[in-house]
Amino acid sequence: MSRTDTYVVVGAGQAGGRAAEAIRGAGFSGRLVVVGAERVRPYERPPLSKQVLTGAAAPDTAFLRAPDYYDEHGIELMLNQRVEAIDRGSARLTLAGGETLAYDKLLLATGSRVRRLALPGSELAGIHYLRDLDDSLTIAKALRAGARVVIVGGGYIGLEVAAAARKRGCAVTVLEAGDGLMRRQVAEEVGDWYADLHRRHGVEIVTGANVEAFEGGSRVQAVRLADGTAYPADLAVVGVGILPNVELAADAGLEVDDGIVVDACGRTSDPAIFAAGDVTRHPNPILGRRVRLESWQNAQNQAVAAGRTMAGEETPYAQVPWFWSDQYDVNLQMVGLPDRVDRLVRRGDPEGGAFTLFYLKDGRIVGANAVNSAKDIAPTRKFIETGAKPDPDMLSDPETSLKKVLKAAG
Ligand SMILES: Cc1cc2nc3c(=O)[nH]c(=O)nc-3n(C[C@H](O)[C@H](O)[C@H](O)COP(=O)(O)OP(=O)(O)OC[C@H]3O[C@@H](n4cnc5c(N)ncnc54)[C@H](O)[C@@H]3O)c2cc1C
Repeated sequence: MSRTDTYVVVGAGQAGGRAAEAIRGAGFSGRLVVVGAERVRPYERPPLSKQVLTGAAAPDTAFLRAPDYYDEHGIELMLNQRVEAIDRGSARLTLAGGETLAYDKLLLATGSRVRRLALPGSELAGIHYLRDLDDSLTIAKALRAGARVVIVGGGYIGLEVAAAARKRGCAVTVLEAGDGLMRRQVAEEVGDWYADLHRRHGVEIVTGANVEAFEGGSRVQAVRLADGTAYPADLAVVGVGILPNVELAADAGLEVDDGIVVDACGRTSDPAIFAAGDVTRHPNPILGRRVRLESWQNAQNQAVAAGRTMAGEETPYAQVPWFWSDQYDVNLQMVGLPDRVDRLVRRGDPEGGAFTLFYLKDGRIVGANAVNSAKDIAPTRKFIETGAKPDPDMLSDPETSLKKVLKAAG
């Protein structure tokens, strides 16, 4: 690395922002440019479906850094600019306006975009998706007391929007195609517990709901299912998953496999190009397999590892995946990424509103869903890292501390 080198980060989201900070923090003294398609400086997305929607926090609390930070650290933010192509032969990027930008090293943090429904009526006004700050502000404005909100998708985004909409006095219906809520993210028992929670808060939950069309003149007025049932709507919010923005990398001939393939330090198949965040498929040595994660933790810490490595400090990324969701006054935390499980052990009392469900495989904890039980997360992570085998009876007894269970497991 020399003082005249140029490092470019594509994507000014959480991963892009944190990677740039890490590159500087590791001592890179050349030119550092972050190119981002959005109009604002890097921010975190979790508040967009929570505090920003309910009005509990101002949108600017989501920003990673104060505006001056970037000038002070010599980080050039090129906002409202989309990178259209990477020419690896000449080490140049082409921006949407036709301008080019040379790089010595490049980091791709292009994140994800929402999966859009292509159904009759999909183009009607009043149908929203939630990915960026502007989406969140638009939805927040539309959540007026008494408005009928139909949410398509019973995953964590849809359910966080449902909780915020109830808080704002809207009438809320959640239409979920599967047979339960958050089936991709949590155990059935936990998803069912959340269905009860939402029903207690007045949300209508419809599972097995096959959405066939949006109806209305110029604005959405109803969401219709394949069985003909129509749910009246003043607005609809669709949360049916995301797709990684891999096209830039794929078109440049980098290895892509449902995510840009990187090593533990964030290197792609081209040693001058790194990637971090939602867009990567990376090895996780604790899980023993490659994963693509859609989470705050990964956007934060993998980006730091890749940024440092790019600046010359080899930093492998190895953490137990962790994720959370806040709905009403209930905090859900998920740790681990269990693929196969042969036993579930419950600790705590679902009726009392606080419990943890542990996933076990061959006697070892491979993951957990903790409902209002954040204190269980750190010890669970230890169990997963060490592969210690807990005594299931001790594990299920809330009177026995997890520290003690861990110690007994040796
Ligand atoms: C509403 C919401 C709530 C969430 N809540 C939680 C939560 O509670 N807990 C949790 O763990 N995770 C949560 N997440 C997930 C977490 O926010 C994401 O995993 C994280 O934002 C990923 O960061 P990223 O920087 O990799 O990608 P992104 O945040 O997607 O950022 C990528 C950026 O790159 C830009 N970009 C893409 N292509 C180009 C291009 N060609 N040129 C220039 N710029 C480009 C995009 O415009 C975007 O700004 C939530 C996500 C959302 C949307």
